[in-house]
Amino acid sequence: MELIFELSKVGRRAADVPLSDVPQIAPESFIDKKYLRDELDLPEVSEIDLVRHYTKLSQRNFGVDLGFYPLGSCTMKYNPKINETVAALPEFTGLHPYAPHEFAQGNLHLLFMMQRLLSNIFGMAEFTLQPAAGAHGELTGVMMIKKYFEQKGEKRRVVLIPDTAHGTNPASGALCGFETVTLRSNGEGGVDLEHLEELMSEEVAALMLTNPNTLGLFERNIEKVAQLVHGNGGLLYGDGANANAFLGKTRPGDLGFDVIQLNLHKTFSTPHGGGGPGSGPVGVSAKLIDFLPVPRIVRKGQEFHWSENFPQTIGRVRAFYGNFNVVVKAYAYIRSLGAAGLTRAAEMAVLNANYVKEILKPYYDLPYDHACMHECVFSGSKQVAESGVHTTDIAKRLIDYHYHPPTIYFPLIVPEAIMIEPTETESKETLDNFCAAMIAIAREAKENPQHVKDAPLTTPVKRLDEVLAARKPDVCWKK
Ligand SMILES: *Cc1c(COP(=O)(O)O)cnc(C)c1O
Repeated sequence: MELIFELSKVGRRAADVPLSDVPQIAPESFIDKKYLRDELDLPEVSEIDLVRHYTKLSQRNFGVDLGFYPLGSCTMKYNPKINETVAALPEFTGLHPYAPHEFAQGNLHLLFMMQRLLSNIFGMAEFTLQPAAGAHGELTGVMMIKKYFEQKGEKRRVVLIPDTAHGTNPASGALCGFETVTLRSNGEGGVDLEHLEELMSEEVAALMLTNPNTLGLFERNIEKVAQLVHGNGGLLYGDGANANAFLGKTRPGDLGFDVIQLNLHKTFSTPHGGGGPGSGPVGVSAKLIDFLPVPRIVRKGQEFHWSENFPQTIGRVRAFYGNFNVVVKAYAYIRSLGAAGLTRAAEMAVLNANYVKEILKPYYDLPYDHACMHECVFSGSKQVAESGVHTTDIAKRLIDYHYHPPTIYFPLIVPEAIMIEPTETESKETLDNFCAAMIAIAREAKENPQHVKDAPLTTPVKRLDEVLAARKPDVCWKK
C-alpha cells in the first residue's frame, strides 16, 4: 500500500478555505522566526483519495471487534457498544471540567456511586478514580504506602515482588525510592512461603502481589501470606489488573489486601490497546484512607462537592479527576451486568481458559498443570527442542490464521512462555477454531518448521527486525 505522501500531487486539495477578509499579518511579527518554515511538506490529495487511504489503513488494523485477541494479562474482552452510547451523552461529554459543583451534581453523583460500587465489589473502604492507567494506579498505591510509614515514623526501604510479577510492579516500587527484592515462586507457581518468611522484616514496607498471578493461578496460601506480611507490620498490595477472574467470587479486602489497583480498561470492559485511554482506580483499606489523592468527592446531605481538605493526602496524581469518560463506560458496564452478571463473567472467563488449556495440553508444554483462573500459560519448549521453532515463530504464524498472538515470553519464569487469556466474551466455536489453529501450527512446526519460522506469510509487511525497529525507528518518509 502506498504512503499518503506518494499519492500527493502539487496543487491537489481536499478542502477550499475562503479568502480571508481581514488584513494579513506577517507571521514573523508574532512568532519567533526560528519556528517558521517556508515548506511544510504536507501531502496534497483530493478528498476521495484521502478517505480511501485512511479507510484502507483502518482495514489493516486488528482489534477485538474484528477477531479473537487472546493477549494474556491484558483482558481484551469485547466492549459492549451500550457503554459507548452512554458515555457519549452530551451531559457527560459537554460539562467543562472547571464547572462549579452546583452544575455538576449528576456527574459527581456518578463518580461517587462508582467509588461505592468498586468498594463493595472489592471489599475496600474507599476508592480513588484519579489514576489514568494500571501502572499509574500502582504508583499511587505505593506513594500512599510510603506516606503511611512516614507518618508512623517507620523507616522501611524494601518492597517485595514475586518473580512472576508484571514489570510495572518493580518500576512503581523503585519510582517511590524503595529497593525491590524478588520473591521466589514455589513449584506450584505460588508464593514460596519459606522464602517470604526469610525476607520479611521490619525493613519491608509491602509485598506487591498479583492474585491470581500471571501464571493464571490463584494464590492458595493467601491468608498465610497476608499474616506473614501483616505480622511484620508490612502492607499487602494487590495488583488487580487480573480482577476479571474473581469478580463476585472473592474480595481482596476480605483476603487481607490493604491496597489494590484495578484496570477499568481490562476488567470493566473499556477499550484499550490503542483503542482508548485507561483508568486505574485504587482501593484502600481503612488505615490508608487519609492518604488518598485529592480532590476527593464529599457528600453533604444530598449534595456532592470537591474537597482538598485532607492534610495527610499524597496530593494530586492527575489533572482534574482522571479519565472521566472511561469511568462512565465502566459504570455502564457494571450497572448493565449487575452483581449476578459480573459473577457469571468471572465464571465464564475461568471456564474458557480451562477449556483452551485442556484442548491444547497434548500439543504444547504446560509447566504448571493445575486448574487455572482466567488465563493459561504454555511453553514452546517442546517445539524448540523438536524443530527449533520458537514461541515468536508460533505467535507470528497465528497472524496468518487471523488471530492476534497471545502474550509471549511473559511471565519470565516460564521459558518460551505462551500466555493465553480468552476472556468470557468468546463463544465455544471461536475457542475451537483458535485451538484448531494452534494445533495446526504445532503440526507445521514438526513437518515444515521453516514455514513457521518465516511467518507471517500473508501480511503486507513480513517478519520485521524488532530489535532494529526499536533501536533505530524509521518513521519519516523522505522523497
Ligand atoms: C496490564 C497490567 C498492568 C499495567 O496496566 P497499564 O494500564 O498497562 O498501566 C499491571 N499489572 C498487570 C498484572 C497487568 O496485567
